[in-house]
Amino acid sequence: MITLKEALQLAPEALASLREELRRKIEANPELNAYVGLESMGEGIPIAVKDNIQVKEWSVTCGSNILQGYVAPYNATVVEKMLAAGLSPFGRTNMDEFAMGSTTESSFYGKTQNPRNPDCVPGGSSGGSAAAVGAGLAIAALGSDTGGSIRQPAAFCGIVGMKPTYGRVSRYGLGAYASSLDQIGPMTQNVEDAAILYDIISGYDPKDSTSVDRGDGKVSDKLDPSRKLTIAVLPEYVTDASDDVKNAYAKTIETLKAAGHTIVEKRLMDPKYDISAYYVTAMAEATTNLARYDGIRYGNRKTGENLVDTFVKTRSEGFGEEVKRRILLGNFVLSSGYYDAYYVKAQKVRRLIKEEYEKIFEEVDLILSPVAPSTAYEFGALEDPLEMYLSDIYTISINLAGLPAISLPVDTAANGMPVGLQLIAKPFDEQTLFDGALSLENALK
Ligand code: GLN
Repeated sequence: MITLKEALQLAPEALASLREELRRKIEANPELNAYVGLESMGEGIPIAVKDNIQVKEWSVTCGSNILQGYVAPYNATVVEKMLAAGLSPFGRTNMDEFAMGSTTESSFYGKTQNPRNPDCVPGGSSGGSAAAVGAGLAIAALGSDTGGSIRQPAAFCGIVGMKPTYGRVSRYGLGAYASSLDQIGPMTQNVEDAAILYDIISGYDPKDSTSVDRGDGKVSDKLDPSRKLTIAVLPEYVTDASDDVKNAYAKTIETLKAAGHTIVEKRLMDPKYDISAYYVTAMAEATTNLARYDGIRYGNRKTGENLVDTFVKTRSEGFGEEVKRRILLGNFVLSSGYYDAYYVKAQKVRRLIKEEYEKIFEEVDLILSPVAPSTAYEFGALEDPLEMYLSDIYTISINLAGLPAISLPVDTAANGMPVGLQLIAKPFDEQTLFDGALSLENALK
């Protein structure tokens, strides 16, 4: 598949045939189930869009039954920005219901296969976007990352996925999961394309009250892989990872050294605290955000005998099991009597996590970390929800701290599956993030 950079040079006729080629390939690969809808808006460069980002007049369902029949009344800001840059939303990609999950198995539309091995999960929640790019069924895609949902599926499918600093990319028109953690970001074939798509979608937006105005912050014209950076590594942090991930981590450290970067060893607190703080925070926010799906204002309605019965029927039939679990737990941690013990405590831990990163970043430019404890596993391998939550240990603290991070493929495991690692940067230092990632990508060639 041609890259986004190359596609930007194509004439309109070539783009039209590219859209046709994509359509043919997607229809020839239905079992992959990367796309849940194939619409195309405009004549620009086709970009796949996760099913929780609004494209005007398209259905948008967040992978849920409860939003069947809902049509977006306006474009998300990222979509407006893409259109202005000559990019066209092309197809909606599969995802875990309301972006809750790490495998895309909780989607109303059924599972998406990993393009490298049809028995394995593509990761999640942006599994459809990752599989589409990994299988050559998209030039590039948008995903959303609340606790790893761009970076982990990117790692599982052997592509690049980037989560911007919180506030860099507008959330206007993104189906909210946990508003203080969610960010939209690029999922691409290489680092340079990620920088290009990041530039297109980022920037201040008055329609999002958490959007931050930090100047234009564009990176792709200034990419400099020759910069020599100081990169922190976390030897104790990787002890829980599989041998494939540990080996890839060790090899990548050597690659970075050989490329002229300085490696220093650092420590972060036990990531088990990240899991607790993240899931309490995310579920509390999710409960609040999902209260609006009542059968009256959006999508699918199951009419009952009276109003309350309609709410109950709509929500009971509309939401899947994982979403219901999180609504229950979210209400629990927010209820009076438990609020201080869980929610307030989680916010304190969140602050400590942020401070830990700040301390490390006083001395280094970037941090190198695993993305997931293992490579992509088989469907059904993580049936226990707690096990699934634990698999997020390496990604969620970055969302809690609001930092930018990029996952890129660095190695192939013994079983042939890709291994991804992530680089993490200071808030709003996407330039250094992309410079370091490009340097690593070049060194691996
Ligand atoms: N797996 C994590 C969760 O289920 C992260 C999901 C995401 O980033 N949207 O919450």
